[in-house]
Amino acid sequence: MPAVVMKFGGSSVVDATAIRRVIRIVTAERDRGRVPVVVVSALGRVTDRLLGLAEEARLGHQVDVEAGTAELLRRHAHEAAQLGADGDASLVQAFDTQFAHLHSLLQAIEDCRAADPRALDAIAASGELLSSRLVAAAMTAVGLPAVWVDARDVVLTDDRHTCAAPRIDDIAVAAREKLDPIVSAGSIAVLGGFVGRAPDGSTTTLGRGGSDYSAALVGAGIGADEIQIWTDVDGMLTADPRVVNDADVVPHLSFAEAAELAYFGAKVLHPSTIFPAVARNIPVRILNSHRPEAKGTLITADPPRAHRSFAALACKRGITILDITSSRMLMAHGFLRRVFEVFDRFETAVDVVTTSEVSVSVTIDDNRRGPDIVAALLEFADVTVEEQMALLAVVGDRLTTNSALAARVVGALTSFPLRMISQAASRRNVTIVLPEASLARAMMHLHRELFAVSGQMR
Ligand code: ASP
Ligand code: MG
Repeated sequence: MPAVVMKFGGSSVVDATAIRRVIRIVTAERDRGRVPVVVVSALGRVTDRLLGLAEEARLGHQVDVEAGTAELLRRHAHEAAQLGADGDASLVQAFDTQFAHLHSLLQAIEDCRAADPRALDAIAASGELLSSRLVAAAMTAVGLPAVWVDARDVVLTDDRHTCAAPRIDDIAVAAREKLDPIVSAGSIAVLGGFVGRAPDGSTTTLGRGGSDYSAALVGAGIGADEIQIWTDVDGMLTADPRVVNDADVVPHLSFAEAAELAYFGAKVLHPSTIFPAVARNIPVRILNSHRPEAKGTLITADPPRAHRSFAALACKRGITILDITSSRMLMAHGFLRRVFEVFDRFETAVDVVTTSEVSVSVTIDDNRRGPDIVAALLEFADVTVEEQMALLAVVGDRLTTNSALAARVVGALTSFPLRMISQAASRRNVTIVLPEASLARAMMHLHRELFAVSGQMR
């Protein structure tokens, strides 16, 4: 039977009203003849609260920890009652067990005034373990054949707590073993996103925002027909809607375009999501749980050629530029190798690179190891650092075949203080680095130039 993975983010399961909407959406999909496999985030804002409680516990704020935990329990119990699931003995039992566990984890942190990544994972995972139980019980309460599945039995990972990497082959085996029988019976498996299990049995998480990734891993594991990411916007947009108020939904994207956009800051999709889907060639749809009738964005290997030259813009703030100049003589070979070895040593990803004969400029998003990196570079190079920069990316498959398009992008921005310009190796994007203070104006301007609806070809 064809299965569809349907992932609902925190805002789509924020309360009973939202969960009822989820149930209607899942029911409609089922009525169309495909079996839903449902992956849910924690109820909106719960992950932040849980990690906040871990921090309070570390600081020894016992009263706040007690109050915060009680509040979370009240919230989950309240939504369960609203959904008519409060009489469900297995749900009550699951909540009791999960909250007792949470309580002891927080207590342990309080006792030693320290929270290790392993404990943080166990705490953060409570959010999805609770929400998935709640959604399954709510479905059962309205007569749907829902089966709760412990996501940790499916999403098998390594032991890098707080940012665990999935073990793809093991997940495929586990997903088929745990989920196929449920799908074959026409029942709805419900599992929490974000959480997994390390080889030693401990609970892991895939990193913040990881529920999308879970959905894609599960979808690839069972060979689903489609992976749906239900969120609170109408799809991937032509620009960041907080910057550009008339951004449009992009109806179709290629996997490569979506991956670039997610990587360059489009918030709608977790950057890792796309890879498992690509590997199995499974279409990914971005949909709005508040407006299920909206068409959303469909991401496939080979989308229909649209009448547009560019797919979308994306941006990232808080970027740091490092200008690194060889302090030795010209043409020192091995210079770039030494430069990149430093970034590698401090586990920092480089986003954009431009080079000249004796210098290289790179951008980094994560500046936590910045001082160490600079110190190591200074051993063989001169370094200048510029913070508060932003990255503005224009993405589109057509950039690979029409070089005039890149010129159009740069030409549109002549009045802006561009610090770096790069057309990536894939040549599917043109990336501009400029001061954060100029980003909003540049993005609005570029969007108007490249995407203005004029009735003609864009
Ligand atoms: N609940 C997790 C988070 O807030 C994972 C997710 O929702 O994707 O990061
Ligand atoms: Mg999300």
